[in-house]
Amino acid sequence: MPLIVQKFGGTSLADSTKILAAARKAIRAQQNGNQVVMVVSAMGHNTDMLVELARELTDHPPAREMDMLLSTGEQVSVALMAMAIDSLGYQAISMTGAQIGIKTDSTHTKARIHSISTERMRKALDEGKIVIAAGFQGIDEHHNITTLGRGGSDTTAVALAAVLGADSCEIYTDVDGVYTTDPRVLPEARMVKQVSYDEMLELASLGAGVMHSRSIEFAKKFSAPIHVRNSFADIPGTMIVTDPEAPGQAVSGATLVKNEARVTVLGVPDRPGASLTIFSKIAAKNISVDMIVQNIGADAKADVSFTVFRDDLPATLQAVAEAAEELGAEGFTQDENVSKVSVVGLGMATQTGVAQKMFRALAENNVNILMITTSEIKISVLVSRDQGAPALRTVHRVFELDKEPPGASPSPRKNALSRSERRPSGDATAVVARLQGMEDLAVSDISLDDSQARVTIANVPDAPGLAAQVFEQIAEGGILVDMIVQSFGRDGRANLSFTVPQTALDKAVKLSQELAANLGCGPVTSCPRVAKLSVSGIGMRSHTGVAIRMFQALADAGINLDMINTSEVRVNVVVDGAAGPEALDRLQAAFADAQG
Ligand code: ADP
Ligand code: ASP
Ligand code: MG
Repeated sequence: MPLIVQKFGGTSLADSTKILAAARKAIRAQQNGNQVVMVVSAMGHNTDMLVELARELTDHPPAREMDMLLSTGEQVSVALMAMAIDSLGYQAISMTGAQIGIKTDSTHTKARIHSISTERMRKALDEGKIVIAAGFQGIDEHHNITTLGRGGSDTTAVALAAVLGADSCEIYTDVDGVYTTDPRVLPEARMVKQVSYDEMLELASLGAGVMHSRSIEFAKKFSAPIHVRNSFADIPGTMIVTDPEAPGQAVSGATLVKNEARVTVLGVPDRPGASLTIFSKIAAKNISVDMIVQNIGADAKADVSFTVFRDDLPATLQAVAEAAEELGAEGFTQDENVSKVSVVGLGMATQTGVAQKMFRALAENNVNILMITTSEIKISVLVSRDQGAPALRTVHRVFELDKEPPGASPSPRKNALSRSERRPSGDATAVVARLQGMEDLAVSDISLDDSQARVTIANVPDAPGLAAQVFEQIAEGGILVDMIVQSFGRDGRANLSFTVPQTALDKAVKLSQELAANLGCGPVTSCPRVAKLSVSGIGMRSHTGVAIRMFQALADAGINLDMINTSEVRVNVVVDGAAGPEALDRLQAAFADAQG
């Protein structure tokens, strides 16, 4: 019999009428010949209310007790949903995370799923019951209740769909589907019929709150299609699948993370292992870091900047203070009034001029860019908070995200994998292997690109339009730029580094020197041969340990890092070209256990 997982978010369960409406949807699906598993969130804004109650008592609630508290929200919902179904004359059984057998690690408030047992759910389904699973929660090896992080019910739903080999996973929410950006921030946002896992993973990790990013990791790992739909309207919604909406589209979505904070560690000795010290102390607190950028000064000292969510700032600063002391750094600065604006698209990996188009549009709207990082399928800029929403609107407009892209297929394409391929095979050991380590790191590729060179223009004035001017001029020279990093400046001046093909280095240096002369900045330095090492796979950023493992392996080999960038699907580092092959060996050894 086909199996459907239906997840209902908080607003879809805000009162008893809405609970009954959701119950009817599940009953209808069952009557249509499906087995049905419902995953429910806490009603309305109950989780926020519980967080607030805890805050009234203390600024530092013990994480274990926080999970004990927050998990009650979903427990209320499962019980009420079972009653609603019962009242309509159908059979249902509610289950907590522990009763289902969702085993997690012990990282309270951000736990990761180790395994899920399916027997009890299967038995209830075979008895004709609708199974109602509490979202967002699990249990650790010591029987402590854990939660998966805010928004985590999506992850429960997709994880259940994956282990049960569900035919579909429907996410019912309060918007019609996935939009090109948050429709509550930009009314001109457009709903997309289809979005690829890789894009959705980046979008979710860069702030598209409609899906919990870890749910997309699961979906990708298990090739489970996700269908995002409106609870309150019968609209087809969005499919999250392997292929993008239109092939070759440079930008398919944009995001804004309003509440970011920037931290800069000043005067860090530029030697192997320095970043490792900083980021391992932060990772130990389970904080994920983004936009790591270093600004190498003439005096063999670097300023290392990065961003974290503003809520994580106090804990981050504790870690940074320790690291700065240990490294003999000059100190650190922070800014808690910054926002991050990003654009995402599979097509930008192969097209030129995307970054420059974004920088030009921002410059024309007088938005000053404080930091830049790019990876294969995203470009992120840091701006002051008051410029966040205008910057988002600007990039949405310049990439014409409100219009359907040419080549978009009229109806969403399904995954290539057939249902029998998705379903766990009958072989018991294969099923067990599949269920174990569900959220473990999966590295799909470790690669070395030694065809590039690096150019750095130092002391670029920190003013609107500078990045646009630089990359326009470079593009006019017909040069394909790969990685771009703009450090957080000191005294109104920042370093701008980028990589180009080795064959284009002379031209790039010449153009950069002309630019530097015109702008009154410089010097221009370059490295004729750099090695870019990439570790790609799933959960690169939310597994805070990945970058650390890379830094550790390279530091142990005495290899210094020139440039770094992180994204949800890949971590890249650039090192001196001569060190490339050794760096590759070291990374392969360091991730031997995670390569699948
Ligand atoms: P639920 O309670 O159903 O899980 P959430 O509040 O977690 O709902 O997610 C839905 C919200 O996500 C929407 O109301 C919308 O404001 C926000 N959102 C952010 N980015 C996007 C996007 N790209 N597409 C759709 N919604 C988005
Ligand atoms: N109730 C939890 C939250 O608000 C989980 C969820 O809704 O996904 O974060
Ligand atoms: Mg949600």
